Amino acid sequence: MTTHQSAIEVLKNKSKHRKTEILPLANCLHLVSADDVFAPINVPSFDNAAMDGYVFRFEDFLNELNLQIINEIQAGTDALLPLKKGEAARIFTGAPIPENGDTVIPQEDVLVENGMLKFQKKVNKNANVRQKGTQTQKGTLILKKNTKITAEYIGFLATFGIAELEVFAPPKIGIITTGKELVKAGNSLENYQIYDSNSVFLTAAFEEIGLKLSFSIWVDDNKNELKNAIQENVEKVDVLIFTGGISVGDYDFLKPVLDDLDVQESFYRVKQKPGKPLFFGTLNNTEIFALPGNPSAVVMCFHVYLKPFIKEKMGIESFTKKEFGILMNEYIKKSGLTHFVKAFVENNKVEILNNQLSYQMDAYTKANAFAILTENQEHFQIGDKVEVIKFRN
Ligand code: AMP
Ligand code: MG
Repeated sequence: MTTHQSAIEVLKNKSKHRKTEILPLANCLHLVSADDVFAPINVPSFDNAAMDGYVFRFEDFLNELNLQIINEIQAGTDALLPLKKGEAARIFTGAPIPENGDTVIPQEDVLVENGMLKFQKKVNKNANVRQKGTQTQKGTLILKKNTKITAEYIGFLATFGIAELEVFAPPKIGIITTGKELVKAGNSLENYQIYDSNSVFLTAAFEEIGLKLSFSIWVDDNKNELKNAIQENVEKVDVLIFTGGISVGDYDFLKPVLDDLDVQESFYRVKQKPGKPLFFGTLNNTEIFALPGNPSAVVMCFHVYLKPFIKEKMGIESFTKKEFGILMNEYIKKSGLTHFVKAFVENNKVEILNNQLSYQMDAYTKANAFAILTENQEHFQIGDKVEVIKFRN
């Protein structure tokens, strides 16, 4: 049996090993860049019109020349003709400025008669022209290493035609849910069955950090079936997660099976409540977590261990510094285990919620944190300072 601090230390060290991967830009949402990116082109990449109007030589406007409209330049077409003295061209937003042209006047500010342009308003030199490189010069740093990729970043990078990015590789994750008593939603229950909520929670929780599971399967409480399922699936993923079957009941076969398969154990059983049977180990290149079956423990183990471990691998610092709060209510527990109790924390005030048992999920509809009630203390008083792990704002 280990302490939660040592278990976290083990995971912290393991998560330092980060792989990188080149992915299509569109698949990089929520991921973190693993390299600097420099602008491959100027943006804009050519001088172009900011308005629908007419383009001309500013010098001709100063000299009050009558300008003849010689052609039309549509966005997405080449400005074929250079402007000569006394010439203007019809132009539309985003169309390229022709050679010698330097200024665009909006169509509302001119009169056109017999193909000649008459200015109705003053205009400044270079007005309504978006000049090449004025947003970003080719070669500028546009994405720093270690930046979290948002949809806006993806939009920005797309303007440079960037098609792929080097990012910290999102781990491939698979889930194996065990338990003969489990039924999928949509089916009716016999009075000895319960609905599987763990795999549903984990799927959603990983999605919240930007990860889609590689697989999520159910396996009966049967030694051979478990063993086969592991052998068949372990190489498909970087992290394999079990729920259920890891404690010490007669039908909890997971630990002996993991031993049979020579999974290298890093820790098994943590001095905590809930989540005491938590296991972490490695089989070849796959890291294996076995979480207890109790749903409340699964949520706790996800936020305290799994999520920070996976996020660190994705380049996001997540085993962060400690936070503390002040208890707003009393709590009594036995000594011997550290309790992670469901709590609502606001302005450092910690309210321990009702229904703390490991099968009880209702407190999570209000909880935004776990309060960590230390191993040896039994009586927690109002005003006591306790460590908290916030998992939601
Ligand atoms: P176990 O760790 O397999 O002994 O399971 C502990 C408790 O969690 C039992 O009451 C199970 O019925 C329950 N349980 C196990 N797996 C799930 C699951 N996927 N969803 C909801 N409850 C579960
Ligand atoms: Mg079970």
